[in-house]
Amino acid sequence: MITLENVSKKFNAFQAISSVSLHIQPGEIHGIIGASGAGKSTLLRLMNLLEIPDEGEVTVNGHTLTAMNSKQLREARKSIGMIFQHFNLAANKTVYGNVAVSLELAGFPKKQQRSRVMECLQFVGLEDYAQSYPAQLSGGQKQRVAIARALANKPQVLLCDEPTSALDPRTTAELLGVLEEISRLGVTIVIVSHEMNVIKSICSRVTVMADGKVYDTIERQPQGIVK
Ligand code: ADP
Ligand code: ADP
Repeated sequence: MITLENVSKKFNAFQAISSVSLHIQPGEIHGIIGASGAGKSTLLRLMNLLEIPDEGEVTVNGHTLTAMNSKQLREARKSIGMIFQHFNLAANKTVYGNVAVSLELAGFPKKQQRSRVMECLQFVGLEDYAQSYPAQLSGGQKQRVAIARALANKPQVLLCDEPTSALDPRTTAELLGVLEEISRLGVTIVIVSHEMNVIKSICSRVTVMADGKVYDTIERQPQGIVK
C-alpha cells in the first residue's frame, strides 16, 4: 500500500533520513517508534510528500508520488489523510467548517458536503458539536474533529503523527479505539509515536527507527487497548 525505496532526506547538511526502504501492507496498523529526533515524523511526512525526498521513490496505492506533477499530487493526496499531535484545527472555523474544508477544496457541491461532514462527525461521535469552535472542545474531542476531517475524502491511508501525545491515558485509549474502527473500514494506518504502550496496543507491525535509519521491522500480535 505504501512503499518507500531508498528514500533519503537532508535538512541543510543534516541527514534526517538515510536510504530508508519500507513496505506497508494494505489494511495494517503500522507503528513507527524511536527516540526523539530519530526521523519518525520526517519519514511519515515523506509518505505524502509533505517532505520532498532528495533521493528515492515513494509509492502509495500503486501511484508513484515522486513521479507526479503538482496537480497529480494534489489529486493523489485526497486518498491520504493525516492527523497531528496538536490537531492543527482552524480556530476561527466551527467543527463543521473544519471538516468541510477539504471537501470545499475538492469542489464538492454544498449538499454532498453536508451529508459527508455529518457522516464523519457521527463516526467520531461529535454530531452534536458541529457548531462548536475548537476552543470549546477537550483535547480528545479536538483530535476526533481532526480525524473526521481526515476521513472526509474517504482516504485509503491515514497517517498519524504522535496522535495521542497531547492526550491523557483515558482519552488515549478512546482514541486508539477510534483508530481501530477506522482500520476495520479497510483504511491502512501508520502511527508515529514515542509511546511504547500506544504502539503495543493496536499495531500489527512496528518499524523501529534510530538516527534516520530503519533499525528493524517487527511483526507482532497487538496486545489490545488498556483502558
Ligand atoms: P522524530 O519525529 O523522530 O522526533 P523528526 O523527523 O521530527 O524526528 O526529526 C528528525 C531530525 O530532523 C531532528 O534532528 C530534527 O530537528 C530535524 N528536522 C526535522 N524537520 C526539520 C526541518 N524542517 N528543518 C531542519 N531540521 C529538521
Ligand atoms: P510537533 O511536535 O508539534 O509535531 P515537530 O517537532 O514535528 O512539532 O515540528 C513541527 C514543524 O517544525 C515541522 O514542520 C518540522 O518539519 C519542523 N521542524 C522540526 N525540527 C526542526 C528544526 N530543527 N529546524 C527547523 N524546523 C524543524
